[in-house]
Amino acid sequence: MAERISTPSRTKQIIEENGFYFKKNFGQNFLIDSNILDNIAECAGVTKEDCVLEIGPGIGSLTQVLAEHAREVVAIEIDSNLIPILFKTLADYDNIEVRNQDILKTDIDAIIREKNNDRPIKVVANLPYYITTPIIMDLLENERKVDTITVMVQKEVAERMQAGPGDKEYGALSIAVQYYCDAHLDMIVQPSCFMPRPKVASAVITLKVLPERKIAAKDEELFFHLVKCAFGQRRKTLLNCLFNQGNLGFSKEEWTEILTSLGWDPRVRGEALSIEDFAKLTDAVFDAKQ
Ligand code: SAM
Repeated sequence: MAERISTPSRTKQIIEENGFYFKKNFGQNFLIDSNILDNIAECAGVTKEDCVLEIGPGIGSLTQVLAEHAREVVAIEIDSNLIPILFKTLADYDNIEVRNQDILKTDIDAIIREKNNDRPIKVVANLPYYITTPIIMDLLENERKVDTITVMVQKEVAERMQAGPGDKEYGALSIAVQYYCDAHLDMIVQPSCFMPRPKVASAVITLKVLPERKIAAKDEELFFHLVKCAFGQRRKTLLNCLFNQGNLGFSKEEWTEILTSLGWDPRVRGEALSIEDFAKLTDAVFDAKQ
């Protein structure tokens, strides 16, 4: 491999030579630990067959390692100040395409079609914290053709992805991740592995998107609508959440009837429901709507 971008001294040199200033609002914490980068590529299982979508390449530290393993890397970076830097740091690689775009406004399906003949790609990223939930929800709920998602996120977010009923972190993100994927916590990463250092620990998690659902609901859109209602007002009962935000035209008595038909106390809270319970609720609501 060419000289590593990720060593602390090289990263510092690149930053200084280019007069780059870190932007907090873009979640810019660059990885400066080469072992962690190797581990991420290994956990993602990237091979020379793969097309990888990287979100937020920064100065190219992870991009470089991914390019060594993959057939091709498409890297989407929002900060235009980083684009000329990336052209320099990644000049030795002919299998990397850098695009100056916001990933939340990028046509990911088009990238998959153009770059991988519409076959599933791998997503790998040290994610800026502020887009973690929207980008993961976008990839999963829109069923983008993605094989695995290996991402560095705040440790607490990784825990949220794996949380279950009764856990403090359990919410809509936990359900989306566990509905579509098998999740595996790869490693915990300390603040000292980044420049600048974030305030909290991070974690790398791999989501393997399942070819088929483990639990089937009669209507997936309705399933996620109900999940979002149930967690929308956490301190309210499920009944009140559904009545206030369900927007499905049922009276409070009709909602009570749906819940009691499932054998549930109408005072139950959404956070007590498992994915299976949400699938049961979806089917009962689906039938009541007919
Ligand atoms: N991959 C690099 C690394 O590991 O050192 C940088 C990771 S840094 C945590 C997040 C990167 O995502 C930054 O380069 C930031 O500018 C970029 N970014 C932030 N918001 C973005 C968005 N909406 N779309 C694309 N890139 C974004």
